[in-house]
Amino acid sequence: MSQIRNVAVLGSTGSIGRAAIDVLGRMQHSHRVTAISCHSQLQLLEQQIAEVTPTHAIVTQSANAESQRWLSNTNERSPATKRYVGSDAINAIVTGDEVDTVIGAIVGIAGLESAYEAAKAGKRLALANKESLVVAGALIMQSAQESGAEVIPVDSEHSAIFQCLQSCGRKSELKRIILTASGGPLRDWPIDKLEQATVEDALAHPTWQMGRKITVDSATMMNKALEVIEAKWLFGLESEQIHVVIHSQSIIHSMVEYCDASVIAQLSPPDMRLPIQYALTYPQRDQASSPAMDWSVPMRLDWKPVDPERYPCLQLGYEVAAKGGSCGAVLNAANEACVELFLDRKIKLTDIAKICRSVLNHHHFSPSPSLTELLQLDRWSRNEVQNWITGL
Ligand code: MG
Repeated sequence: MSQIRNVAVLGSTGSIGRAAIDVLGRMQHSHRVTAISCHSQLQLLEQQIAEVTPTHAIVTQSANAESQRWLSNTNERSPATKRYVGSDAINAIVTGDEVDTVIGAIVGIAGLESAYEAAKAGKRLALANKESLVVAGALIMQSAQESGAEVIPVDSEHSAIFQCLQSCGRKSELKRIILTASGGPLRDWPIDKLEQATVEDALAHPTWQMGRKITVDSATMMNKALEVIEAKWLFGLESEQIHVVIHSQSIIHSMVEYCDASVIAQLSPPDMRLPIQYALTYPQRDQASSPAMDWSVPMRLDWKPVDPERYPCLQLGYEVAAKGGSCGAVLNAANEACVELFLDRKIKLTDIAKICRSVLNHHHFSPSPSLTELLQLDRWSRNEVQNWITGL
């Protein structure tokens, strides 16, 4: 790459954001971190300001005295970094001329607006925030098409599909994609014991070190349900073309199957730095930031079909992918609200699928909602979850 690309890392203190800062530290020949943002982890953000000396740093938690104090601080190692509080600053910076590439690594619905703005502004959007596509996939992909924005997936499965699709085969020859799922920390528990799973049980992921929300989503397989919807939007597929298998080692990140029964897979040790780096360097590749496969040791790869009784959330993902419209916003918000309640020990892990099913079933379906309607549905859905538990 001849020109230095200017990157905004949104959600830089989260698990993906930290990995992105690490990757970008090794890519100074081609990329510069122009802006970083976090919600509330001010101490880590300050360390990152010193490390990457960005032009802009943003804290989105605005109604907070600590954030206001942070605003008037100066970082000795990066005194010129401009500071902002509030998410409006993010939208202004990602749409401005100083940023070419946006890494969308904010967790949950909070990442939607900036992803949408980056897509409208014609940026490269390296998207880790699957929720924005789940909620507003139609709007984001249409905006990207109109503006010329590139939406490159960072989610490891979708990066794998994206890479496999580069290698061979025409879209018309694609039969289906196969998303791999680790099965989460409770994959070997007897099904009738799942309702006893504690927060600690659900957070003990066997292969990936991730944030709390996505780890709970992995235990329920809601994460894969959201990824089915994400894949539909990213790759323009019908829900019947998206298949899920359990692959406990998390080495095969996903596969594509062509009409002649040939299957192409992408393999690498489980490390998010690879999909992050590829989203930055695509269509080229750069030297590895993460460990390579060790072919000198014996290794086996296993897979098996998903048991729908163990993972009722997955079915919700298929239904939402097939129906589209307002369903993604409702499912996503209900799930986010449920995960918070589970982490606060107010509901059981197995309640998540039941509550999401109930909220989804009685919402007023809208086939092509606007962003404003989607955000209203998001709030409605969270309220419904609250009503559900007060009615218990
Ligand atoms: Mg994933």
